[in-house]
Amino acid sequence: MENCREHIRLEIDSLSSNEEFARVVTAVFMSRLNPTLEEVDDVKTAVSEAVTNAIIHGYQGGEGIVSMDITAEPEEGILTVCVGDKGTGIRDIKKAMEPMYTTDTTGERSGMGFSFMEAFMDQVEVESEPGKGTAVTMKKFIGR
Ligand code: ATP
Ligand code: MG
Repeated sequence: MENCREHIRLEIDSLSSNEEFARVVTAVFMSRLNPTLEEVDDVKTAVSEAVTNAIIHGYQGGEGIVSMDITAEPEEGILTVCVGDKGTGIRDIKKAMEPMYTTDTTGERSGMGFSFMEAFMDQVEVESEPGKGTAVTMKKFIGR
């Protein structure tokens, strides 16, 4: 079992009550990489932001499935989390990722979700197509 990748995939209904589940599953899964508490907290925060975005922006609070692909590469110490939705998609990804950019009009959102993901993870990549959905792939190097 050398050089192996370990992978799980889950699909969750787009309910904010499932966010905690997504965070906890990620934390439990990544424990095989022997992360520090800080590394676990960083990843939980990033996952939380991505899942929240899928629910509130992707599906706009409506029904949908949020998919999570989580991969661990124990030898390299790499955790990869991909959060996907088949919702509205993002027209201008570069703009969406700018700090304080939000399309929210209620004043509840600060537009810092992507900035947090980038601050707490080592790599963040966003793929999106309007009307098709969004996939956010984040990597964290554990133990370096
Ligand atoms: P905050 O995360 O601080 O509560 P926010 O969600 O508006 O505010 P970001 O998470 O940085 O800020 O996202 C910026 C913008 O990108 C959002 O306002 C939204 O327009 C768009 N966006 C992000 N994720 C998605 C997604 N999964 N589907 C559609 N649009 C998205
Ligand atoms: Mg957000």
